[in-house]
Amino acid sequence: MLIVMRHGALQQDVDRVVATIEDMGYQARPMPGKQRTTVGLVGNDGRVDSSRLEALPGVQEILHVTKPYKQVSREWKPESTVVRLPGGLTIGGDDVIVMAGPCSVESERQILDAARAVRDAGATVLRAGAFKPRSSPYSFQGLGRAGLKLLARAREETGLLIVTEAMDAEGLDLVLAVADIVQIGARNMQNYSLLKHAGRARKPILLKRGLSATITELLLSAEYILAEGNPDVILCERGVRGFDTTTRNLFDLSAIPVVHGLSHLPIVADPSHGTGHRDMVIPMARAAVAAGADGLLVEVHPTPDRALSDGAQSLYPEQFDRLMRETRIIVEAIGRRLAEPVGARA
Ligand code: PEP
Ligand code: MN
Repeated sequence: MLIVMRHGALQQDVDRVVATIEDMGYQARPMPGKQRTTVGLVGNDGRVDSSRLEALPGVQEILHVTKPYKQVSREWKPESTVVRLPGGLTIGGDDVIVMAGPCSVESERQILDAARAVRDAGATVLRAGAFKPRSSPYSFQGLGRAGLKLLARAREETGLLIVTEAMDAEGLDLVLAVADIVQIGARNMQNYSLLKHAGRARKPILLKRGLSATITELLLSAEYILAEGNPDVILCERGVRGFDTTTRNLFDLSAIPVVHGLSHLPIVADPSHGTGHRDMVIPMARAAVAAGADGLLVEVHPTPDRALSDGAQSLYPEQFDRLMRETRIIVEAIGRRLAEPVGARA
């Protein structure tokens, strides 16, 4: 439920609305806007008596959000969310951001080589998992804490920001100490205790679509994070399970305009997990950007044939160079800009 204040309503009117909502046992989220302030009522269980709010001074109208997700919807917040990152980088504005790197951190040499390669090609964020959710317990599980240390070193060396995955609440604290963006992977999209913990964090969260999650379910999972107070969520389309085994997943590019219509949150695309084959990554990266993705998450490995995870979908550095050149052309053709490396900005 949204309480829309009149243009020119006084601060004391807004305070009164907030106090009334809290007195009714709900949380209030005041949102000052260019034209007028709105106050969101969080936690509506269907028993809110809106007449108490309608009668308060300065209240213009009460809007009911019709979608099952509330704070992530465009009804709640019409302007697109721009997530701010260290060094002036943003996601969700005009800039299109490229996050690239290996699936997993494997060794110092591997992650530093990967970081330099993606930086030299123009990426601004290094991706790589220290904690890996693998289908088999016998597959490489990631270097854990040691991997996080290597990511911190790679950031020091290259100036790239870091996105890396947290798989559980304990791991989240470790990841938060290093990451600039915390990834919640497809397998954990509905790990509600992890989502709640991420909602109490003060860093942006990259939330990947679950293996067979609907867009409504993706948005409801994002709602968990916003409901706990963290507004900085970046959604990620990474493909859903299909019936055709030609590709690893069915890369749902239509999710990008659908999400942009339903939600103010940014959405990036992951053509690596979306297709599972390196030869398909460049065309689908181009298509995703053309479809309006706010960024790309791409797997790149210095020696993909020796990768400990997801080698078949990892680009060779030369291929990533090409991806960046072609992506830049499309980004500019649709009136956006490719995000500049942190050091290059004034
Ligand atoms: C990854 O980004 O390497 C990953 C594990 O992705 P997903 O959760 O989308 O499978
Ligand atoms: Mn991977």
